Amino acid sequence: MSNSEYDTNNIFAKILRGEIPAHKIYEDDETLAFMDIMPRGEGHCLVIPKSPARNIFDMEPDSLIAVTKVVQRVSKAVMAAFNADGVTIQQLNEAASGQEVFHYHCHIIPRHDGVKVGPPGIMGDGEQIAANAERIRAALIS
Ligand code: AMP
Repeated sequence: MSNSEYDTNNIFAKILRGEIPAHKIYEDDETLAFMDIMPRGEGHCLVIPKSPARNIFDMEPDSLIAVTKVVQRVSKAVMAAFNADGVTIQQLNEAASGQEVFHYHCHIIPRHDGVKVGPPGIMGDGEQIAANAERIRAALIS
């Protein structure tokens, strides 16, 4: 288990402080959901707690519950928005697992039968991501 401290300058902390932009899809007192800028599939989005937590090891139980509730809600929305056959929910802890941004987050990746998840690290098209965010927002309120 890691003893590493939370870094207040991680990229998701900056998004929460409004220092860098994000395609937001849902927000409440405890959580924020927004689009991944390097999507591994159309509609790939992330849900994070607003309270600082590096990963699963320092998440407050109530915050875990709050994020998980939103993950469920957004998962249902992406199923509808992208006519998906399923969703992959992924959550990585520490560098050994592949974690790159050290603020707890859950990935939600819409899946279609027979279609593999795309490779990581490829910047998505901004207009397409904005359009996908709008589709998810619309599904969340319908
Ligand atoms: P992980 O490997 O689980 O830490 O994943 C971090 C994710 O954050 C990756 O899927 C990145 O594409 C995504 N990401 C990095 N920077 C940003 C950003 N500024 N806005 C949205 N997503 C980002």
